[in-house]
Amino acid sequence: MRLLNKAKEELSWYEEHYGEELLADGENDNPIEAEEKGTGVVWESIQGETLDSEEVKPVEEAEVTGGTGEKVEAASEGQSATGEPEEWDGVRRVYITFDDGPSTSTNTILDILDSYGVKATFFVTGKEGSEYADIYRRIAESGHTIGMHSYSHKYSELYESLGSFSADFNKLQTYLYETTGVWSKFYRFPGGSSNTASKVPMEQLIDYLNHENITYFDWNVASSDDRAGINKDIIVANVMTGVPKFHEAIILLHDAQDKQATVEALPEIIEQIQAMDNTVIVPITEDTLPVQHISNSQ
Ligand SMILES: [Zn+2]
Repeated sequence: MRLLNKAKEELSWYEEHYGEELLADGENDNPIEAEEKGTGVVWESIQGETLDSEEVKPVEEAEVTGGTGEKVEAASEGQSATGEPEEWDGVRRVYITFDDGPSTSTNTILDILDSYGVKATFFVTGKEGSEYADIYRRIAESGHTIGMHSYSHKYSELYESLGSFSADFNKLQTYLYETTGVWSKFYRFPGGSSNTASKVPMEQLIDYLNHENITYFDWNVASSDDRAGINKDIIVANVMTGVPKFHEAIILLHDAQDKQATVEALPEIIEQIQAMDNTVIVPITEDTLPVQHISNSQ
């Protein structure tokens, strides 16, 4: 029932916003306006997720300084005043986020998180099969947050049109609900909200997510763990260079079979963050102030 109502809401919203005749029987429910959302932290300088389609131009890579102290270029000013809560409570919140899972590495990642009593956020893609279903469930049942990262993760299909994006979105959201019982409320765009791969203006996709009451999250701490040849020590250094700059630090890591250095780096990252004063590692919730490379404020 919920799915049916949801589908109807979407169709009427589509019709109003884009004039597409998607509903054959002419049913006309009242459109639900997207809730107004607060302004996220707008920060455009870091792009930590590389595009994986050869059809599209790769995003610019953050500058890397050479030598032993290799690190990604980070914001010079920390969070903008507009993105900061008016009264900071003095506690730094660090969000460890993993894109692209589940994978053959996920159970190891979950074991590590468990051993430190840490909750993280997994922006997952659509992986079929019972072994993956078990992993989705383990993520949810362990108290981590499940966010969405597209079903297909294929840029050429996902970003072809609003229709293809919304179809992919609904497929993943429904799949996760059927698998875990969780309606995910969080999204991370493949390539980030400032990706250059989308044939649809990103503002349109953001509007769509707003209407779905989905909050999208980018990141302000890039580990660069998706760079070829990166090792554990550089990943740790990248993260620990970025985290102290923010009251709300959102770290981008990847959960993938070929990202073993990320798994190796994770214990040190957690230990070093846990050693910081007035700092907690928490999962993304509806109260989390999103970091957004493209603002969704109107
Ligand atoms: Zn990704």
